[in-house]
Amino acid sequence: MSTFTTSGIRAWQGGASGPDSSERSGQAVKDDAARAWAVAGTVTDPELPMLTLADLGVLRDVRADGGRVVVSITPTYTGCPAMDTMRDDLVHALNRAGYDDVEVRTVLSPPWSTDWISDDGRRKLAEAGIAPPGAAPTHPSGPIPLTLTTRRPADVPASAASRTGDVVDEARASSHGAFSADGQDASETGVACPRCGSAQTEEVSRFSATACKALRRCRACQEPFEHVKEI
Ligand SMILES: [Zn+2]
Repeated sequence: MSTFTTSGIRAWQGGASGPDSSERSGQAVKDDAARAWAVAGTVTDPELPMLTLADLGVLRDVRADGGRVVVSITPTYTGCPAMDTMRDDLVHALNRAGYDDVEVRTVLSPPWSTDWISDDGRRKLAEAGIAPPGAAPTHPSGPIPLTLTTRRPADVPASAASRTGDVVDEARASSHGAFSADGQDASETGVACPRCGSAQTEEVSRFSATACKALRRCRACQEPFEHVKEI
């Protein structure tokens, strides 16, 4: 987790004088960054409102310079509709706390994964009846090669269509990450029921109320529950 970054921050001007003024100013700058971080850290995720952006691990850096604050956040996944709301909520929260000039920057590296969700965040998810994610799948660094195949027309003979289907199945089987766990039960995925703790759970739908969660059902207590998918 990143710490407050204070390089380049203008020294606090008010009050301090005498031989220890530079030390006290440095402390004031740290305090200002810590205060701005505390404000930014209270903003919650619009899709998982029990989690703050700090719990979620998207809050990467907060720099304070007098009334100006620069916040760096990392997108959870490309196209996540919550990112614009997070940005607006950060600006409003910091404005309310007295920071007039707020800039929200997006940083892409290191990339976010569900491993960034804090232990506190995982506990809050479980308390809300949502199964927290397990360990995120490892992705190769750098470009990911994609193999493109020729699409056959609809009126091809059945034997050829069957081969096409095989190609599709192979492509699905080789895809890694968020879309590879269809139909697996808890013995494979390790998703325990957040209510009764049973490992006998099954996926009902890959997507629930939000794209980042799957809908599962517990075979022991029969209750449906949501699961934050590992990405
Ligand atoms: Zn259960």
